[in-house]
Amino acid sequence: MTVRVRFAPSPTGHPHIGNIRTVVFNWLFARQNNGKFILRIEDTDRTRYVEDAVKVITDSLTWLGLDWDEGPDKGGPYGPYTQSKRLDIYREKAEELVAKGLAYRCNCKPERLEKIREENLAKGLNPMYDRHCRDLPPDAVAPNEPHVIRLKVPLEGTTTVHDELKGDVTFDNTQINDQILLKTDGFPTYHLAVVVDDHMMDITHIIRADEWLPSTPKHVMLYEAFGWEPPIFIHVPLVLGQDGKKLSKRHGAVSIADFHRQGYLPEAVFNFLSLLGWSPGEGDEQEIFTREELIERFDIERVNLAPAVFAYDKLDWMNGVHIRNMSEEDLLHKLIPVWQEVGFISTPVQAEMLRKLEKLVPLVQERLKTVRDVIPLTDFVFTDIEMLPAEELIGKKMTVEQSIEALQKTQALLATLVNFDDKEMEQPMRDLATELGLKAGQLFTIVRNAVTAKTVTPPLFGLLEVIGRETTLRRLEQAEETLKSLLDSQAEVTD
Ligand code: GLU
Repeated sequence: MTVRVRFAPSPTGHPHIGNIRTVVFNWLFARQNNGKFILRIEDTDRTRYVEDAVKVITDSLTWLGLDWDEGPDKGGPYGPYTQSKRLDIYREKAEELVAKGLAYRCNCKPERLEKIREENLAKGLNPMYDRHCRDLPPDAVAPNEPHVIRLKVPLEGTTTVHDELKGDVTFDNTQINDQILLKTDGFPTYHLAVVVDDHMMDITHIIRADEWLPSTPKHVMLYEAFGWEPPIFIHVPLVLGQDGKKLSKRHGAVSIADFHRQGYLPEAVFNFLSLLGWSPGEGDEQEIFTREELIERFDIERVNLAPAVFAYDKLDWMNGVHIRNMSEEDLLHKLIPVWQEVGFISTPVQAEMLRKLEKLVPLVQERLKTVRDVIPLTDFVFTDIEMLPAEELIGKKMTVEQSIEALQKTQALLATLVNFDDKEMEQPMRDLATELGLKAGQLFTIVRNAVTAKTVTPPLFGLLEVIGRETTLRRLEQAEETLKSLLDSQAEVTD
């Protein structure tokens, strides 16, 4: 049997990260079984249709590297893969059930249905249709008058759904509505379309979120009515926020586009999502996985029954680990678009700038949680800085005069270095500190504050090299001037 699984989103907007986690499970399952992963667009609810949503969905999957084997854009032997292009199929299947006496036409008016619904609700009952049209003579509702087609749900007994993870789950038939299969506008409902397509597309395993479990007995009834073997059902737990509530914008990013924008790496998000509800096994603490390892290790049977909790801080940590695990060259290619987006560098990157960037990457690699963190870490390399206020330019436990002298001597030293190179800078700077009677850290801090206007930065000498001799000297001189003005103003006050 070739494994065939599917992602069947409704194009109603940005897919929720919880759905994408379920896609990751489907994709891993398909890939580890040399199976097929199918993308099917379930666009039969026209009221919720959002223009461009299909593109958002395919962009999200592509960014994460979740490639599909068959789908609307790719085609395949079971197409079309967009439900609105399959309306004839659903109509024919619904009519087939009417002909078999397993479904019926219903022309109850919306006002009547609403009234029954309200009456039921008022009595505290399930708001079910009263089956008014179920036993009318077959020609009571003509095929050409506006009507819906409903399934004749058994009036008693139970329906059991076998779920691979949960075992048998049994539902009382009396609580199941005579569900609509085909709507007045000729579009199928989700229930009819999903069953027809999963069957006709030879889907072997339906891996979807728990929230669909209550719909599954309806699907099982439909498989029975058609005389089809149902696929294997696997309902996976929902993804919740750390407060136990359904993950929403309140908690943070919930769409792939947001994670992308915020500087997360696809490989980290993929790794993180795969562990939302799954873990490799007792006693195995490994959390950082490559895509290939996940394909090998993932085990759908080990998916947890309890809801998964989305911990943003863990994703940050994991993203940082993936950044550190990358080659400098790969990271450079992730950072270039970020620097370009904020206008620090041009497109295409000039050769000289590229060399600077190559120097910069190892300096920041250890310090990034997301690729966007590179912006505040390196802005002073690309743009003019605003000098710190004079008080902050004074060295620790030093006087203004001592600080001025340190800045002057540093300029003299850096101006005369043969190569303005981080390795050549460090030792002479340490010697200078000794000569000035300072600790190395005291001198380096003054220089850092003057040249970067920040108190915490990546390693100083590497930065100075990237910033370049000219800019470094200019900033040191500006800092010196600022301190001198402070001295002058202090003198005026004492005068
Ligand atoms: N179209 C449904 C959705 O929007 C698919 C549910 C299923 O996987 O059966 O999620």
